[in-house]
Formats: sequence, C-alpha cells, structure tokens
Amino acid sequence: MKIAGIETATLRVPTSKQMALEFPYHAVIVARVRTDAGIEGLGYSLAFAASGAEAIQMYLDTRLVPLLVGEDPLFVERHWERMFRVDRGIRRQGIAAYAVSALDIALWDIVGKAANLPLYKLWGAATDRIAAYGSGGWAKYSVKDVIAEAERYAGQGCRYYKMKIHDPDPRVNRERVMAVKKALGDGVRMMVDVNQKLDAHNSIRQARLLEDLDLVWYEEPVLADDIAACAEVAQAIAIPVATGENAYTRWEFRDLIERKAARYLMPDVCRANGFSETMRIGRLAAAHSTLVSPHVVHELSLHVAAALPNSFLVEYMDWAPADLFDGLPPCERGEIAVPDRPGHGIALAKGAIEKYRVR
Ligand SMILES: [Mg+2]
Repeated sequence: MKIAGIETATLRVPTSKQMALEFPYHAVIVARVRTDAGIEGLGYSLAFAASGAEAIQMYLDTRLVPLLVGEDPLFVERHWERMFRVDRGIRRQGIAAYAVSALDIALWDIVGKAANLPLYKLWGAATDRIAAYGSGGWAKYSVKDVIAEAERYAGQGCRYYKMKIHDPDPRVNRERVMAVKKALGDGVRMMVDVNQKLDAHNSIRQARLLEDLDLVWYEEPVLADDIAACAEVAQAIAIPVATGENAYTRWEFRDLIERKAARYLMPDVCRANGFSETMRIGRLAAAHSTLVSPHVVHELSLHVAAALPNSFLVEYMDWAPADLFDGLPPCERGEIAVPDRPGHGIALAKGAIEKYRVR
C-alpha cells in the first residue's frame, strides 16, 4: 500500500451554547491521507480560537506532506521519526507538533482500517468504556452560566465537572467554585483549572483557599514552560496537581514525572505529536504509577484512554457543531463507549469541509 495523496484544509467551526461566551469559534486543521488501496485516513488538530491555524496548515503542507507521499502508510514509527526530525532548527512543539499530530493520527487511522480493528483493540484494549468529566466553566460565564453547564453534564451522568478559576481575586474563585459545588451536590466531584495564569507564589495561595473543597485536581497551576514552578506548587499544596495539555513530547512528560510536578498527566493527542507519542507518554506514566487523563478531543483520546490501564477519565467538552463529524460517540450515564469501527472511527460529516472550510 502506498500513500497516493494528502489533502489538507482548515475548518473554522463556530462554538455553541455557553462556550461561545469565551470562544466564538475554533479551527480544525484537517489532513486526509489517501492510499492506492482505497483506504483513507483522517487526521486533524484542534486549535482553540483558531490560534496558529494558518501556520499549522502551512507547516504541514510544506514540510511534512512531502515526506509521506509515495510511502507505505503502515510504517508509522518510521514516518513519525522522519516528521519529527525533518527540521533540526524547529523543535516539535507548538505549531510543528500540532502538524505532526494531524498526520500521525491519519496514519494510525489507516493502520486500523487496514487491520479492520478499532485502534484501542489494535493497541490491546484495557476497557471499552471510559468515564468522562464535563469541562468548561470559563471566566466569562456568570456563576449561573457555570451552574447551567455543570448541570447539563450532570444530566448526562457525569460524576465529575471542571471549571476555570481565572478571577484575579482568589476569594472570588473560591466563591464561584463553592456555588457550583453546592448546586451539583455530593454526587459530582470537581476539578479546577488555572490555565497557567498564576506564578508559583500566587498559585499556592489560591490552592490553599480551595483545599477544603475535596477537589480531584488543581490544573496547570503555572506557566507550562516552568516545570520547576509546577513542582514547587505540587509539593506545597494538598490538592493533586494535573498538567500536560501544553507539553508536547515524552521528554517534557519525563521531566514532569521526575520532578513530581503532577499526579495527573494530560497529553493532548492533537498537540503531543499524535497517537504515537501520546501512547509512549502513557506507558512512561505507567512506569511511574502516574495517571493519564487526556486533554479534550475525547472522540480521539478515547482510544488512548481505553488502551492504557493507567488512564483516568477523558475530558468531555462538546466543542464541535452537530454537523461537523459522523460517528461522534455520545456520553451516556457518565461514560463514553469507544467507537468500535476500524481506525479511530471518526469521519467528517458529508458537506462539512465545504461548509466550514477557510478559503
Ligand atoms: Mg486545562
């Protein structure tokens, strides 16, 4: 089998419901890998608020696509190494890593389809259903908005809910979290997300104000670049730290693990150089008895979470318009069943490219 061609596109997709208060739209950078055997692999990266989308597609088109056309798509490790090493002057983080991710995901989709197996079974399944946590609670929501969103997820059976704590006054964040916690009752546990907005001192101060609220985790306490500061927070507070959505390789995750900077690691398959590197990160985490809780794009992350015995929840954030994907798995009784179709099992809906493509 040979790769016959690769078509890329950037889709600008509007968000719905409360999320639009914070982000009116996201971008999906799509790579469709066609083979001479008639199998097509779909890969994509999700860029929040479309940030960097043009650059991701440009890097993908100019630097990565030429490496793959004419090659056997089943040699995923070989292609991953070539994509990862093609530019010695550009580290595979940020823009470049989003681009590698989209192609790696498409290659694995082909492997699964060629083997006639869903990816989680190809990798050796640990389970076929994953508990999901509802995620959102952005800074621009009123407390009423946050509660409405949290209750919507709870109505789908989610037993966990995560909200942002972005107010500059830590006492305001405590009040917001307490109001949501009270509305949800004892059946739902909560997480909070700092999204890198504090330094170590202020993050520790904020976390200490929340320590009596039985939170599952305290997320991205400081700038993702500063692993030493993250470790400082993790060692100073009583809430377990989660981080990793802005870490891109096994080496960054190794540093997080070795410095004991987090209890929960959160690789994003669309950022961390695809399924290949995310699975390596997951195995590395297992070697250190650390849990993996993948960041958004649950429709893809489900396969990773279901193949790893050390996974814990997937992040469920319904960011996609209803007419973007076919086969998006629903959340029922707080769990999402992994699609049992070959590959990752997600396809773009008919007409979605034409409707949402940026020209
Ligand atoms: Mg986060």
